[in-house]
Amino acid sequence: MAILRFNAIKETLHRKPVDVNETERRSELFGRNVFNEKAMRQFLTKDSFQSLKNAIDKGYKIERSLADHISTGMKEWAISKGATHYTHWFQPLTGSTAEKHDAFFETIEDGSAMEKFNGAQLVQQEPDASSLPHGGIRNTFEARGYTAWDPTSPAFVWGTTLCIPTIFVAYTGEALDYKTPLLRSVSALDKAATDVVRYFDKKVNKVITTLGWEQEYFLVDSALAASRPDLMMSGRTLLGHSPAKGQQLDDHYFGSIPSRVLNYMRDLEHECMLLGIPVKTRHNEVAPNQFELAPIFEEVNLAVDHNSLLMDVMDKIAERHNFKVLFHEKPFQGVNGSGKHNNWSLATDSGSNLLSPGKTPMKNMRFLTFFINTIKAFGENEELIRATIASASNDHRLGANEAPPAVMSVFIGTQLTKVLDELEKVTDGKLSPEEKTDLKLNVVGKIPEILLDNTDRNRTSPFAFTGNKFELRAVGSTANCADPMTVLNAIVTKQLKEFKSEVDSLIKDKKMKKDDAIFNVLREYIKDSKKIRFEGDGYGEAWEKEAEKRGLSNYRTTPEALKPKISEKAINLFRDLEIMNETEVKARYEIEIENYSKHIQIESRILGDIARNHIIPTAIKYQNVLIKNVKGLKEIYGSGFKDQAKEQMSIIESISKHLEKINGGIDAMISERKSANALEDETKKAFAYCDKVKPHFEDIRYHCDKLELLVDDEIWPLTKYRELLFTK
Ligand code: ADP
Ligand code: MG
Repeated sequence: MAILRFNAIKETLHRKPVDVNETERRSELFGRNVFNEKAMRQFLTKDSFQSLKNAIDKGYKIERSLADHISTGMKEWAISKGATHYTHWFQPLTGSTAEKHDAFFETIEDGSAMEKFNGAQLVQQEPDASSLPHGGIRNTFEARGYTAWDPTSPAFVWGTTLCIPTIFVAYTGEALDYKTPLLRSVSALDKAATDVVRYFDKKVNKVITTLGWEQEYFLVDSALAASRPDLMMSGRTLLGHSPAKGQQLDDHYFGSIPSRVLNYMRDLEHECMLLGIPVKTRHNEVAPNQFELAPIFEEVNLAVDHNSLLMDVMDKIAERHNFKVLFHEKPFQGVNGSGKHNNWSLATDSGSNLLSPGKTPMKNMRFLTFFINTIKAFGENEELIRATIASASNDHRLGANEAPPAVMSVFIGTQLTKVLDELEKVTDGKLSPEEKTDLKLNVVGKIPEILLDNTDRNRTSPFAFTGNKFELRAVGSTANCADPMTVLNAIVTKQLKEFKSEVDSLIKDKKMKKDDAIFNVLREYIKDSKKIRFEGDGYGEAWEKEAEKRGLSNYRTTPEALKPKISEKAINLFRDLEIMNETEVKARYEIEIENYSKHIQIESRILGDIARNHIIPTAIKYQNVLIKNVKGLKEIYGSGFKDQAKEQMSIIESISKHLEKINGGIDAMISERKSANALEDETKKAFAYCDKVKPHFEDIRYHCDKLELLVDDEIWPLTKYRELLFTK
């Protein structure tokens, strides 16, 4: 094992940057491997082009005869890009992407062969996916699920495969993937938001959700990563003493990017351009070897697909550059973890951002309406939001003083706080002309200027308003963005519907003017949502106390945090908006709670194995060297040997103590694991893993890490933190 470590380091030290050929301009590469409008025009007949366009823009159904034409055009295009196979590409609830490749090639009767791909193959497939998670919806012996083409996300060629984005549903209609509920939430929000926007602008016919994610990750040399069984199997290091130098010098953030990494990034960005993923920024993050990548925002369905695709592409490109990408939220203890910020907003069909203040009081009232409704929705559903970002790996970040805390809150900045304070003073009932002028000129009218100088940014807030969008920062770096986006869309939809009905009833029953009615309702909302607003330091203990007083939830672990997902409130929310029925909601909970237990179980096994089969034998080997040394000293010095062997004896003793603790810890952990496994109820099992099995990790690790400091570096089996993090 030690050999593996030394060979890996040697290999790493001899690495050279892999050349990247970048001859063409990025704008020319963009979308070249995407079946976009340009490709559609070139490869489709006029009728099929129009039919596909209508499906994309208006959600119309594509006729069967035209589907055959479209598939033929798509196939010709894909072959021109070097594709030999096609696949329905989807996002099952495993958290990664799934695909099953079929060749275009088919033999025909006379014994020859031809390339074939028809409408039926494009539109629907039955992947043998009985082994994908379904939370009890689809008994394995029963009906299978099928994948169905989602024309709103364009097909693309990746490598030699035509990938067709699809949804994945059971024959009984229940969603078995992330995309289906997301699409349903997008259309629910479209309807609710369009109804509200029409108070301000009658020309709006559609509202879309926009998402711009920021993906953080670590890069580790592939040989070094391969020398760590914990990293390879669980995505994070379960052991390892922190290096002498960590991130305390802050010298990595925005520092210059090492050339090996830079070449990787250039290669990655090149591939992203071809695939139409509009990546824009790249920079170092806080921790050594940590980086971030962000695209230009897109319509949420496409943005989610692009994030999933990107994670796959990153893995593949990394292989070429001898890197391993770590998406885990906390690969190294004591070193900053990774997240995936989700920048979220709403835009009208004419391209105007509903969370962006405008030049006229009307635009600003529209802005305030969406702004305040979002805050209220977030406040009333903070538990559900917390549930949607919960995972075994994200538990390491939330509440660990580096990422947003486990308490959900909204940050809006001092300037907008002032605006809301002013609005709160609006009189109950009809506004006087003076009041209206004052509001329009001094409150609503001032917003754009205010935001321009609004430079305060609170990095500790889980949900921050950043000028023209809300940024959900608590999402884990391994997560699929679809789930948090579905929830955010759902709660805002519900809120906007309530808002509309309250405003309408003031207009109708109280004979208020539209402006008056809107101000009156917003005023109440501002009061209602004070509890969730917090401008201070989210990492501090003071906030936790304050949050408790306010009655906000503070779920520190996943089993606790997941519970609100199946509350009456959540079930009603999703059912009423037709985003998910009760079966679907419960199935997702089952999958997640089971995943949690499996995750901790795997980590526990790996830790037990490494500690017992790698660390203990190594420590004993070193102890034997010391024992031999002491014996030799005794031979030379006789009874006076103790003076000469004092230090050695003390190390021998320390080693024994640590060994005892490690071995005892592993025994106790295994016994807890057995008890947990015997539990039938998945929720109880998850709690047992969380409260009984996991606490042993820290103890076992502590003693292993102490041994790392004692044992001869020459024989230490595991690649150390300093080697993983600082070898360039
Ligand atoms: P930061 O300081 O957090 O890096 P930026 O202003 O650079 O913030 O933007 C971060 C992300 O916000 C980018 O990924 C960008 O695409 C996204 N973004 C910008 N405007 C919108 C919007 N209207 N809707 C959704 N995302 C947006
Ligand atoms: Mg950000």
